[in-house]
Amino acid sequence: MADVPVPFLDLQRINERHRAAYQAALSRVLDSGRVLLGEETAAFEREFAAWCGTSHCVGVGNGFDALHLVLRAWGIGAGDEVIVPSHTFIATWLAVSEVGAVPVPVEPAPEGCNIDPARVEAAITPRTRAIIAVHLYGRPAPMRELSEIARRHGLKLLEDAAQAHGAQLGGRPCGSLGDAAAFSFYPGKNLGALGDGGAVTTNDLALAERVRRIANYGSSVKYQHELAGVNSRLDELQAAFLRERLRVLDADNAHRRRVAQAYLAGLAGLPGLTLPAGDEADRISAWHLFVVRHTHRDALAELLAARGVSTLVHYPLPIHRQGAYADTLLSQQSLPLADAWAREALSLPIGPTLTDKEVGSVLAAVRGACAELSLP
Ligand SMILES: *Cc1c(COP(=O)(O)O)cnc(C)c1O
Repeated sequence: MADVPVPFLDLQRINERHRAAYQAALSRVLDSGRVLLGEETAAFEREFAAWCGTSHCVGVGNGFDALHLVLRAWGIGAGDEVIVPSHTFIATWLAVSEVGAVPVPVEPAPEGCNIDPARVEAAITPRTRAIIAVHLYGRPAPMRELSEIARRHGLKLLEDAAQAHGAQLGGRPCGSLGDAAAFSFYPGKNLGALGDGGAVTTNDLALAERVRRIANYGSSVKYQHELAGVNSRLDELQAAFLRERLRVLDADNAHRRRVAQAYLAGLAGLPGLTLPAGDEADRISAWHLFVVRHTHRDALAELLAARGVSTLVHYPLPIHRQGAYADTLLSQQSLPLADAWAREALSLPIGPTLTDKEVGSVLAAVRGACAELSLP
């Protein structure tokens, strides 16, 4: 048993750090008299665009909306195909389905969690309109290779950066590496609100304006609706909270990186355990999750739980096997690498408030459990 139980992610501890600032933010919004489409959201959009190195940011209701609003703004819909990773959170696929297009899954590279650019070209058909690259677990996807393929075939390239606030590729932040990017501010993400939130970042002014209009009932002038839009807006209060969180995001990510380095050094060479790839000079993860693989994953999770260490599985059932796609041809696809991830992946505790002591408890527990599992 660990001296103290180690939570997977202690949101209460994270929020407690900001109690005074959040209360001040609430007062600011109350004093302003505006709860939507006001100065806090505009300021957050400016600050987050600058942080991502893009010229535009549009706050929306959540990460899922950010994804499908971009697809819709590009005119992608029925009859179109969009290439997606076979292994990701289901929102990536559902965003494609939401606009009436078909997600076309491509397996990850054998040695990594992200989409394999070498397999993308074989999945392109005359109906393909876009590729969605997911920086899964915070690790940047192979954007150089994907951009080259997208350019050659005239496809749009959308980043699903919901797990990658602060990840960098070649010195540039994720969120600035494709034609547009979708972020989520779900509370558990590296940059989390006190509720739902999301954003689109892009250097394309026309796209930013179109997303903003679609997300505001198709209107840019009150009560004039140029198109049949939806309601998906980031509100003033969440924007004010996010501005506070954004101030500490670099420090939070640096802390996550130190935890990841401690895990990589302290868990190397354990029997049956595969560790995630570490950072390289030009590929830096946001370390949203620290995902190991083990052939006896469920037994490992149980032994860790018995030692007081909480873990989660991201994600236990592959998307092509979900009920959501049971009535489609996608359910008949053979995606053995996505299956293997669902069978073997285990996420260890990581977060901006994890203490050295807790990291030590995780290391001891994983070492003990792996030794136990390797006994004949
Ligand atoms: C969280 C997440 C989303 C969806 O974000 P929400 O804000 O929950 O809608 C999309 N894609 C990935 C990869 C995610 O992790």
